Amino acid sequence: MQSSPGTVPATEPVPDTAGSDGAANVRGRLAEIRTRISEAASAVGRSPDSITLVAVSKTVGRPKVEAMLVGGHRHFGENRVQEAASKFPELRARHPDVVLHLIGSLQTNKARDAVRLADVIESLDRPKLANAIEQAAGQEGRLPQLLVQVNIGDEPQKSGVLRAEADAFIEGCMRRFGSALAGVMCVPPADADPAPHFMWLRDCARRHGLRVISMGMSHDFEVAIRCGATEVRVGSAIFGARS
Ligand SMILES: *Cc1c(COP(=O)(O)O)cnc(C)c1O
Repeated sequence: MQSSPGTVPATEPVPDTAGSDGAANVRGRLAEIRTRISEAASAVGRSPDSITLVAVSKTVGRPKVEAMLVGGHRHFGENRVQEAASKFPELRARHPDVVLHLIGSLQTNKARDAVRLADVIESLDRPKLANAIEQAAGQEGRLPQLLVQVNIGDEPQKSGVLRAEADAFIEGCMRRFGSALAGVMCVPPADADPAPHFMWLRDCARRHGLRVISMGMSHDFEVAIRCGATEVRVGSAIFGARS
């Protein structure tokens, strides 16, 4: 093999030098997570295509998000409206088919920005927010897909509608929003076996004929897939630990 010392052909790909947590690692970890999703799905006779991977990019800078986009990934999750507003319009200008999921608890005074920015709002959890989203949708002339967030462990510090109130709230939202009310979402209690919670959410979605079941994060997405998740939200396992 020939080489000419000291010269680098102009076509040589530029190595990723962004450090141990650079964009190349992000692509590698994305491939790894995809494999694990496929394996978890196959283990229970499900098609990997029936599961959407939402890459949770909160606190993650644009270069890593861009690396994912270049690699063909399209679904991203952000938990703060303001951060999403500062990152995504620019990314969307270059990648119009990006799909932005808002996954954080939402104040009513941010509803209009959320409706303008998001493709999916996953944190619909109270009548006041439903009112604000409905009004914002009228003003903006667009209605994102909506998921009802269930406070699956009935934890006082967490957002989400309580389990006991979930059925009535979901029915009300279905009447109000029609097919835009696409499914349900949860974050189970941190130190408990998530499986019973995931199965409760799956059964809840089935009861109401809802197609989207958003559950499972970096540490438990395989369990969630075995329990019927149609969407998993994975952050640190792709992008590295958040500071
Ligand atoms: C941050 C976050 C995630 C991703 O968490 P990781 O543990 O980093 O995968 C998923 N869902 C919600 C609602 C989050 O806030």
